[in-house]
Amino acid sequence: MRPRLSRKLTGFGTTIFTEMTRLANERGAINLAQGFPDFDGPEFVKEAAVAAIGAGHGQYARMSGVPALNAALSRKYARDYALAYDGDAEITVTSGATEAIFATLQGLCDVGDEVVMFEPFYDSYRASAYMAGAIPRVATLRAPSPAQPDVGAWTFDRDAVTALFGPRTRVLLLNSPHNPTGKVYARDELEFLAGLCKEHDVVCISDEVYEHLVFDGEHIPMATLPGMRERTVTISSLGKTFSLTGWKVGWAAAPPDLTFAIRSAHQFITFATATPLQHAAVAAIESGPEFYRQLTADYRYKRDLLVGELARIGFDVTAPAGTYFACAGFASFGYTDDVAFTKHLIDVGVAVIPPSVFYVHPERGRSYVRFAFCKREATLRAAVARLEGLNRTADRGREK
Ligand code: PMP
Ligand code: GLN
Repeated sequence: MRPRLSRKLTGFGTTIFTEMTRLANERGAINLAQGFPDFDGPEFVKEAAVAAIGAGHGQYARMSGVPALNAALSRKYARDYALAYDGDAEITVTSGATEAIFATLQGLCDVGDEVVMFEPFYDSYRASAYMAGAIPRVATLRAPSPAQPDVGAWTFDRDAVTALFGPRTRVLLLNSPHNPTGKVYARDELEFLAGLCKEHDVVCISDEVYEHLVFDGEHIPMATLPGMRERTVTISSLGKTFSLTGWKVGWAAAPPDLTFAIRSAHQFITFATATPLQHAAVAAIESGPEFYRQLTADYRYKRDLLVGELARIGFDVTAPAGTYFACAGFASFGYTDDVAFTKHLIDVGVAVIPPSVFYVHPERGRSYVRFAFCKREATLRAAVARLEGLNRTADRGREK
């Protein structure tokens, strides 16, 4: 029989998030793998959703978003970053950031166009590029070395990135703060990338879903850089900021010509996003800076707790500058391969993500694993208690 799966999706397998959560559930491991909170989103947002359902918002929303939400998002960008977007003409509500990225790539890319991205990348990037007929061109983020111990100092080779840009480059797909490394791109790095976009007439899709999870440094939206607003699609969602990953309410903010491309695809992908959740999202978006401050303080505590404990147990770990992920090297336990070590951790009772799946050069991501700390303190402490059982090779040596 002929294979049923299209060639463009062959080789992607099942996402690592699905795989690791299934394994965690099956084996009773504590899930620090898939990035979702094990606590609920804020009461006031949940109540707003219940009220919206009660009020009868049960039919299709406007294709580009419920007007009140588009207006609230317009106010958010003005308030948080002094960025002016017309809610109706320049903001499109989507079913999560994932759909926004997918729709934008579908709307902008022709077959054979090239999309520049950094590895490790969020896994939907490469698949979404392929589904749009585009070809991913990948630069590598390098881990902080002992010679460069400053926090979150993942770096890239500027010449290597420059070499990826050419006549077929259509899009730079950027993610800051960055999953899985926790890197928050610095202004000079963004300026450098913006320069390449302008020189090659390339659109930047800027995935900023962790925009409000920054502990060190500052989040700089690409669209705030000179000459970039007109060529940037700024994407974010409710999921991370409001601990509501299951709502899948996201959006894309972009000038009218880019918005036209996004909506041209979005109208045939989902058409519109769940109406009552959009109404409730207005309450979330309006809560603003006071809410973000509390969120960052809570996650800073969890970051420091997990990173401190991992270091004590013997992991090679630096505190991430942003996101709710911590990457940790495991050489001291005698392992050299992230997949093998992840399997071992499942036996120990903790599920993590092996990052080599986020690379086109998997060997570059073999030496560390990703822990998610978007979990209750009790969950993190229980995971740490299980990790105490790990044997350091040095200790084993001493025991002999
Ligand atoms: N981009 C990145 C970098 C992510 O980590 C995630 C996580 N889920 C997404 C996009 C998807 O966001 P959403 O759940 O809003 O689709
Ligand atoms: N973004 C989440 C993570 O990196 C998971 C998203 C998903 O499960 N598709 O863990």
